[in-house]
Amino acid sequence: MDRTYTSDVGGGSDKVKVQGWLREKRDLGSIKFLVVSDRKGEIQITVKDDETDKSILDVVDSTPRESVVSVEGLVVENSQAPGGVEIHPDAFEVISKSKKPLPLDPRGKQDANIDTRFDNRFMDLRKKDRMAIFDIRDAACRGARNCLEKRGFMEIHTPKITVSGTEGGAEVFPIIYYEREAFLVQSAQLYKQLMQAGGAERVYEITPQWRAEKSRTPRHLTESWSVDMEMSFIDDQEDVMKVHEEVVRDMVEFVVKTAGDKLDKLGIDIEVPELPLKRITYDEALEIAEEEGEKVEWGEDIGIKAMRKVSERMENQGHDFYFIKRWPSNTKSFYYRPDPGDKKYSQTFDLNYRSWELSSGGQRIHDLDLLEKRIKDQGMDTSNMQFYLDAFRYGMPPHGGFGMGLDRFVASILGIENIKEVVLFPRTPDRLEP
Ligand code: ATP
Ligand code: MG
Repeated sequence: MDRTYTSDVGGGSDKVKVQGWLREKRDLGSIKFLVVSDRKGEIQITVKDDETDKSILDVVDSTPRESVVSVEGLVVENSQAPGGVEIHPDAFEVISKSKKPLPLDPRGKQDANIDTRFDNRFMDLRKKDRMAIFDIRDAACRGARNCLEKRGFMEIHTPKITVSGTEGGAEVFPIIYYEREAFLVQSAQLYKQLMQAGGAERVYEITPQWRAEKSRTPRHLTESWSVDMEMSFIDDQEDVMKVHEEVVRDMVEFVVKTAGDKLDKLGIDIEVPELPLKRITYDEALEIAEEEGEKVEWGEDIGIKAMRKVSERMENQGHDFYFIKRWPSNTKSFYYRPDPGDKKYSQTFDLNYRSWELSSGGQRIHDLDLLEKRIKDQGMDTSNMQFYLDAFRYGMPPHGGFGMGLDRFVASILGIENIKEVVLFPRTPDRLEP
């Protein structure tokens, strides 16, 4: 007999076979209620002393919760069963027996602490509301892919092992690469730009990136995922922002459309943002922060406290997503283009969701002399960057792009405060397993 998903039981056939985890065993003496859980749902299996075959009753008794089982039997309507139907088994096979005790309770009846949960993530993921997050994440990725594909972007795969850092600083992970020093990439930045010199014009990548973050915050991972894109022949950063906001809108829309049942499971209601998204300048953000008692010196990054003030103002005006653009040049990486009208500023933006930065982007420098000057001004070592600089010597179009943290995006739209929850197997300074 073919296997039926538990969610399809009751669809007309009177005999079915279901396979899954024995999630629940409730013993009321002469009657026992079992629950079998699979990827799509759960079904009640009812066994009765005076009705069920004795050999089945014996197997049920000796089978611990969370064992993988195969059950065949009659579908019976029962208004008291979850879903309105149950199975009365005439075959019950244990495919893989679970050990006792369980490291945590996937029914969620007893709370496990966060370390126990992540140490035993496979079991934690058996909880339906945990797995729902990853269906939503999957939908978000598809939404991004669909959107970029429709707009003529090519999906690319760039190296993850490299010889130089991209975002400066010491936040790189060195690796042993035969006799040489190499690093895990901090972002796809340099390679996305090489693709502009290669003539691809519109590229994107959904990629991991690694940063040896020193601070432990609820929004930083050492291994994170980024939706990265880059496009050529732009007039300025506004061209990039226009595509960016469409990507964000389409990601949310695809989640709502295709994972609505998962949002329901989590009790979350999401609104698809209307375009254009709100735009404010860095200077305006500083004014808001100062009015709310959080002064930031011009030229400094906007810290989380000041950002909360800015985001409160934006939220009061009905904006969860908003851009902050025109950052001072010195707050941004070397590859961003200074504003030709006023070089103190750069042609940059961040996209925020409330107080969290979701992305950074802008127009890049495509002029080699200017690029070399910026690199020198920032005191960077160019010895490992010749492969990058060469790409600017033989014709480089004006270009720009953004990198958006996928983990931050998913956590943000779901209102999840700890980024680890939206990552299957998170990597942090304290966690390298499983
Ligand atoms: P932050 O200031 O929040 O540490 P950043 O400005 O250093 O971020 P960018 O270099 O702008 O980060 O990277 C682009 C995007 O990638 C960020 O806006 C963020 O969404 C994501 N990102 C960067 N670093 C991390 C990290 N350690 N963990 C999770 N996401 C990250
Ligand atoms: Mg940034």
